[in-house]
Amino acid sequence: MEEKQKSAGELRREALLYQPKNGYDRLSAQEGAEMEAYCADYKKFLDAGKTERECVAEAVRLAEGKGFKPFTRGMAIQPGDKLYRVNRGKSVMLAVVGSKPLSEGASIGAAHIDSPRLDLKPNPLYEDGELAFFKTHYYGGIRKYQWVTIPLELHGVVALKDGTTVSVSIGAGADEPRFTIDDLLPHLGAEQSKKPLGEAIPGESLNILVGSRPFEDDEGSDRVKLAVLDLLNQKYGIVEEDFISAELEVVPAFQATDIGFDRSLIGAYGHDDRVCAYACLAGLLGLGTPEHTAVCMLADKEEIGSTGVSGMKSAAFDTFMSDLCDAQRVPLKACYERSFCLSADVTAAYDPNFTEVYEKRNSARVNYGVGLCKYTGSRGKSGASDASAELVGWVRKVLDEAGVVWQMAELGKVDAGGGGTVACYMAERDIDTLDAGVPVLSMHSPFETVSKLDCYMTYRAAKAVYESK
Ligand code: MN
Ligand code: MN
Repeated sequence: MEEKQKSAGELRREALLYQPKNGYDRLSAQEGAEMEAYCADYKKFLDAGKTERECVAEAVRLAEGKGFKPFTRGMAIQPGDKLYRVNRGKSVMLAVVGSKPLSEGASIGAAHIDSPRLDLKPNPLYEDGELAFFKTHYYGGIRKYQWVTIPLELHGVVALKDGTTVSVSIGAGADEPRFTIDDLLPHLGAEQSKKPLGEAIPGESLNILVGSRPFEDDEGSDRVKLAVLDLLNQKYGIVEEDFISAELEVVPAFQATDIGFDRSLIGAYGHDDRVCAYACLAGLLGLGTPEHTAVCMLADKEEIGSTGVSGMKSAAFDTFMSDLCDAQRVPLKACYERSFCLSADVTAAYDPNFTEVYEKRNSARVNYGVGLCKYTGSRGKSGASDASAELVGWVRKVLDEAGVVWQMAELGKVDAGGGGTVACYMAERDIDTLDAGVPVLSMHSPFETVSKLDCYMTYRAAKAVYESK
């Protein structure tokens, strides 16, 4: 067959213009199969981890299955060693020791495993109108109207005065009861409907309905509350005062599920940021002996500013890294200044239903691969880490050489809003850091949507970073 001669314009077009392609136009059949298998495992990870504590437990279970061992201070390390350390049950750091010394830097994938949710207040249980409720204080940025009239689960721990801890999980099993928050019926909702979206459901009205059946053979008040406490006491051995030392989190009762006739998307609670956490974890678990020591950091508390002892600002990460460095007699600062961190966190996917907040030329698009963000922040890049041109250039090369489908994106229109990640806290440690992650539709809602292709490509990006020279 005679191939048509390309015109000068066509040739210049190919050479000069940046023409991103839908990832499906670049995906091989083998990659397609690998993507489906990866996403099936990711959905299991989501269903097993509805809270940061559960994600840590699941990550440790998967890591131990791949031969990872707890890393304690003073332990000798060898290239190829697979190590992990849990920080107070809420964050976990894992490493595969590289063939090069840590003085040549580590390749880090960092993501967070906390997600927006409703936490129980320290004194949560009350009765009103012969119904029992839990008071909540929401965690992270939620749109409160999205959390009413959906099925909810309760997960967490209660620490007792005798030093023991009781784990609570109600609602995830098929025949377990669930909870909900009520809303007004439209027949009586005329005044509520006139309010701005952000004010229609006040934070103090996010009360969880937990029971309605009064305690039998009792003449006192609050019989429904008493009956609920009686059930909790039978099942968990707790009394009302024990709520004071509890961390009980109310999360949506949704299992991860395929979305669309073509099953190309996944709907679930907590993609932000378990979708990147799983990508960083799976990329690490599959490694042989990398050149640079590969580190996966799964942090807590990102949604409230990376604060606290289990957040990315905590010295727990530095302690872990410094313990690794000490084993090779390398100063921590010498390791940090030559390290690279992929700050893996979700970004906003362009949504054709809400075009007014997106700048189309610089938005992440579903199925265009992992979204790199040179900077996040808001109102003049405030709070962003803003990676250097040189660093972005290096990452382009690493991802292209590994055949990763990627795109460059901003979170929305200038001054439309913004967001942050753990990137700035890594960069402040003198670690070169770039933001990258899966584009999400309906981010921070109880049921977020991502594309399988973008999930898989974020995993491939994490793997490429760990394996980089
Ligand atoms: Mn996030
Ligand atoms: Mn978030």
